[in-house]
Amino acid sequence: MSERIINILAKDDELSKKILLELEEKLDARGFLTTRDFSNEAELSIVIGGDGSFLRSVHENDFPEVPFVGFNTGHLGFFQELSIDDVDKFVENYIKSEFKQESLHLIETSVHYEGGESKLYSVNEMVVKANKSKAVELDVFINSDYLERFFGDGLIVSTPAGSTAYNYSVRGSVVHPKLECIQMTPLAPINSKAFRSLQNSIIVPPNFIIRFEPKKRYEGEIILLNDGEERIFKNVTSVEINLSYKKIYRIVFSKNIYWNNLKDKFL
Ligand code: NAP
Ligand code: MN
Repeated sequence: MSERIINILAKDDELSKKILLELEEKLDARGFLTTRDFSNEAELSIVIGGDGSFLRSVHENDFPEVPFVGFNTGHLGFFQELSIDDVDKFVENYIKSEFKQESLHLIETSVHYEGGESKLYSVNEMVVKANKSKAVELDVFINSDYLERFFGDGLIVSTPAGSTAYNYSVRGSVVHPKLECIQMTPLAPINSKAFRSLQNSIIVPPNFIIRFEPKKRYEGEIILLNDGEERIFKNVTSVEINLSYKKIYRIVFSKNIYWNNLKDKFL
């Protein structure tokens, strides 16, 4: 029989290291081969940390097909179902295959600039802003339909899984992750006689493309904040965002985890 590999990726703090050692000992004793270096041959990746650690390991390992599960040692841990007291229960339930697998759609962003194009993937959201905390001015299109001229801090385009992150802080809607859609939420939109744009979020179907065309007044320097990672692009002509066919996977142990998790973490 081939080896059953499990990746264990831990944040660099005392508590996370303690859980890492505990998991290594207990999983090795059950015949698994645990590794701290990500292997694409693994059947599972355990992330020990908060949501930030989860997001980073997904990005660093290029959105792998290996499913994730998380032990929360961070602040919130919305993605991290298990707590530090769950190690033994996790090992037993995992061996008995008492879990379900879920998938999470990513969003993909194509940035077009003079001389090239870049493609970026996000788990939570892509935020479009202007450099140096200027207000950003851009035209917004939904597919080929012109919607509005936006002027303000920026626009957040979020996945259902990301709807409880940055999107939630600016009063966007919480979207159940079973829905396939993307949400666009304004950040401090300026509404005056000079500028008028939607002040609430809009939600569009999965095959729709949200397109931004920046106006020139801040020398074309656009910031894309991808799951909290900032990138600056110069001379941007357009930014197109849609729900991707690419997915990541997670295993879940509890039934009805979504609403319980939401209540637990927010109310
Ligand atoms: P961070 O500054 O530690 O994240 C801010 C908070 O968002 C953390 O408490 C984090 O949980 C939580 N979070 C992340 N994804 C979430 C989700 N899907 N649902 C609910 N809460 C979530 O930075 P980070 O840990 O590297 O996370 C990056 C994320 O920060 C970005 O994707 C963006 O959504 C968020 N962000 C939020 C704001 C805001 O709300 N004003 C501003 C910028 C960025 P943990 O404590 O478990 O890490
Ligand atoms: Mn964090």
